[in-house]
Amino acid sequence: MITSQEKKTHLMQFVDLAAQRDRLGGTIEAAISKVISHQQFIMGPEVSQLERLLAEFSGAKHAITCSSGTDALALLLLGLGVKPGDMIICPSFTFCATAEVIAWLGAIPLFVDVDRNTFNIDPDNIQNAIDNAENDGFKVAGIISVDLFGRPADYASLEKLSEDNGKWLLCDAAQSFGASTNGRKVGTFGKATATSFFPAKPLGCYGDGGAVFTNDDKLANLVKSLRVHGKGEHKYDNIHIGMAARMDTIQAAILIEKLSIFPDEIKKRRSIAKRYNENISKLRDVITPDYHEGSTWAQYTIQVDPNKRQYIQEKLSQAGIPTQIYYPIPLHKQKAYKTYPIVGGALPVSDQLASSVLSLPVHPYITVTEQNIICENLENIFN
Ligand SMILES: *Cc1c(COP(=O)(O)O)cnc(C)c1O
Repeated sequence: MITSQEKKTHLMQFVDLAAQRDRLGGTIEAAISKVISHQQFIMGPEVSQLERLLAEFSGAKHAITCSSGTDALALLLLGLGVKPGDMIICPSFTFCATAEVIAWLGAIPLFVDVDRNTFNIDPDNIQNAIDNAENDGFKVAGIISVDLFGRPADYASLEKLSEDNGKWLLCDAAQSFGASTNGRKVGTFGKATATSFFPAKPLGCYGDGGAVFTNDDKLANLVKSLRVHGKGEHKYDNIHIGMAARMDTIQAAILIEKLSIFPDEIKKRRSIAKRYNENISKLRDVITPDYHEGSTWAQYTIQVDPNKRQYIQEKLSQAGIPTQIYYPIPLHKQKAYKTYPIVGGALPVSDQLASSVLSLPVHPYITVTEQNIICENLENIFN
């Protein structure tokens, strides 16, 4: 058997789940075994245990697990009563699921631009977006913000916009569970928050998984019903049109183990990001991400000359350094989404970012040696 330790000396990983498993020893296997022994694969005791731990961790009153981050968003839109034709404001520079759930329900994503330094929805664009859409006769139901790459959105401004306009704010925290800003943890902002436990997210399970967070009792009860086919008193009492969106007990058992090292992993991600910023900000022609100390650093993303990005990526790849482009095409330019409206006729920052971003490995198990290799290679390329 090749252990991940041996493998790592040969190959630098973009996300190193094998190193994490080594650190956890046999605890994950034991947790899975326990579920196989008690046989409660659906809504077993680990599911409610995890929900208690997640609520405690985030400070949200309710944490409700579900089948994926996408389904967490969908459950919330259903729970918020989104109707066909409703307009929902969201950023264009994000993973498609943010807008996909809106379109599923026959509602209309209204794409707005993001801020170049934070990668997140630019609150300055939202008031005009609401006013113009409503002047044109649309009903704006709410706003979905995204904490891209783990950095919390500008929640102070977003919550104010949400209150002033009477629109709900739903937080897509698929990349930012564990992050905090202004002394509050992600999961406690807006009307509700959705997160993902996809394996490559900062806190990931061994398959698909997600969760919903809210302080609203009514919404929490509705989401609990909706994730089990809109059940009422019992499973065969159907009071809503719902979904099959539960989290498997095995995934919950895995997440309980991983949650115990998650705070330390976030700390490591933060210090790796800080180190990158210190080293890379010295280079000409590279824009390093604005350092936000509450970010989970799901990604560490630099901006480079669009004409040189492919060359840079190839050079790094030749040196054994994996990189990724999140995201090469903004949603308003995607085939499936380009017929939806955008605010202001163009989204230049989203376009610019899509052509210039490059994400470097930032997982908690990168060694100092590996990080030095990455920084030295970048230095060679840029000097
Ligand atoms: C990953 C992600 C999702 C979807 O999560 P899944 O668990 O893969 O369904 C939604 N929004 C954003 C911003 C994401 O990064």
